[in-house]
Amino acid sequence: MPTDLAEHADPAADNDAMLTRFIASRDTPCPVCGYNLRSLLGNRCPECGRRLVLAVGTTEPRLAAFIAGLVGLSSGLGFSALLLIYVLFEAMFGRRGFSPSLLEITLLLVGAAVGAGGVAIWVRMRKRLGRVREAAKWGWAGAAWLIGITFPVLFLLTVR
Ligand SMILES: [Zn+2]
Repeated sequence: MPTDLAEHADPAADNDAMLTRFIASRDTPCPVCGYNLRSLLGNRCPECGRRLVLAVGTTEPRLAAFIAGLVGLSSGLGFSALLLIYVLFEAMFGRRGFSPSLLEITLLLVGAAVGAGGVAIWVRMRKRLGRVREAAKWGWAGAAWLIGITFPVLFLLTVR
């Protein structure tokens, strides 16, 4: 049949056809709004209007190590940046005689920069991280935590 041939020549139309076949006889919730898509014709959720695609998934929690590392780096960034703002604000408008040492300010500045840079690199590395073995993944996540908390810990050891 010419129509069938045309359908298979276009991967997008082919995917839509497979989507229609897949949900024809299955109770399948829309991944966004939960609407039951069973027997739906077409590629948009009738409830929320989102475009639907048929996809291959995995049973492995592939994002856990990535999120763990991201939390470590973000913690370092948040700690250093917030304390830096606080210290600068106090020094300018706050208590008389409040003078943070150059070392303290440097540790906060470096901590914030390392945290921000680390988050940027970590996000770019997400797909590469997905390809390494599970143990190595968690090794990288641990390294991210170590990098994230190094300067906050040094700051806490310095401040009195
Ligand atoms: Zn929906």
